[in-house]
Amino acid sequence: MKIREIFNEKTVYSFEVFPPKSTSSVDVIYHTLDELNDLDPDFISVTYSAGGSGNSSLALDIASRIKSCGRIPVLHLPCINYTKEQIDQTLEAAKRLGIENILALRGDINPDIPPVEEFRHASDLIRYLKTRGDFDIAAACYPEGHPDSDTLEEDVDNLKIKVEAGADHLISQLFFDNEYFYNFRDLAAKKGINVPIEAGIMPVTNKKQIERMVTTCGASLPRKFVKVMQRYENNPEALRDAGIAYAIDQVVDLAADNADGIHLYTMNNSYVARKISEAVKGIIGT
Ligand code: FAD
Repeated sequence: MKIREIFNEKTVYSFEVFPPKSTSSVDVIYHTLDELNDLDPDFISVTYSAGGSGNSSLALDIASRIKSCGRIPVLHLPCINYTKEQIDQTLEAAKRLGIENILALRGDINPDIPPVEEFRHASDLIRYLKTRGDFDIAAACYPEGHPDSDTLEEDVDNLKIKVEAGADHLISQLFFDNEYFYNFRDLAAKKGINVPIEAGIMPVTNKKQIERMVTTCGASLPRKFVKVMQRYENNPEALRDAGIAYAIDQVVDLAADNADGIHLYTMNNSYVARKISEAVKGIIGT
């Protein structure tokens, strides 16, 4: 089933997982997938290495496993470090496995890896995908603007290029202040972007994640978020519960504001996904 069709029926509720770095953890991710599957998400997306590191074939294995559980898999596909031939190989493998939903991405530019540049932007990949089969195509969007863009407005203008190239729906970068999402959604609508937009929610439930948020993520950290994280950073159980509660609060507010969908960055943590899913079940209708 193509994901674009689900948006007509309900608030889409989806999960994201990533392939473990070591192949010894494969059994763990398969067990996690089984637990996530029980939570009845509309789809589960699988991240894919932009090249240089990571295990790309494992991403396909995981997507295939999701499909065999009766769930819709979405394969992330970054393009900046891949040739057309390599992209074709991945697409052929995806087709063989019955994967028909792709999240088309540029990928982060790694200063140690010169970009291949057969595809410069996600929009180039989207146009290419259109010639390669009947894929449902998702693309990424950034409520606070992508760091490569000088302004949010410039980024949304570029987002329009992606949508006009054929993106069927969008999944947002994580954010901790819903007002950024609403502001972005209004601007996108004003610019004529009318495909469904899922809100990306990352429950922050451990100290390592907080440190990563502060140094790399670029998302604004509202006072309420900082206060909670500072208060509980040295109490793992309290921090986990506070992070879950914060994410639930965001989801409830987004659902009340008619968000088209919620995309949960699960960080392969089925306990956290379960707590959030149970809390919002009656609201999202999972
Ligand atoms: P683009 O859409 O190409 O945008 C990048 C920058 O270029 C932006 O500033 C944009 O405004 C500008 N731009 C876009 N199109 C044009 C154009 N036609 N002309 C001029 N400027 C333009 N990375 C991975 O490596 N693997 C993953 O699995 C992965 N999953 C992700 C999932 C989600 C939901 C999100 C939000 C991000 C994910 N990323 C992943 C990270 C993503 O690859 C990076 O954020 C990357 O820097 C940008 O990717 P993009 O597809 O948004 O790029």
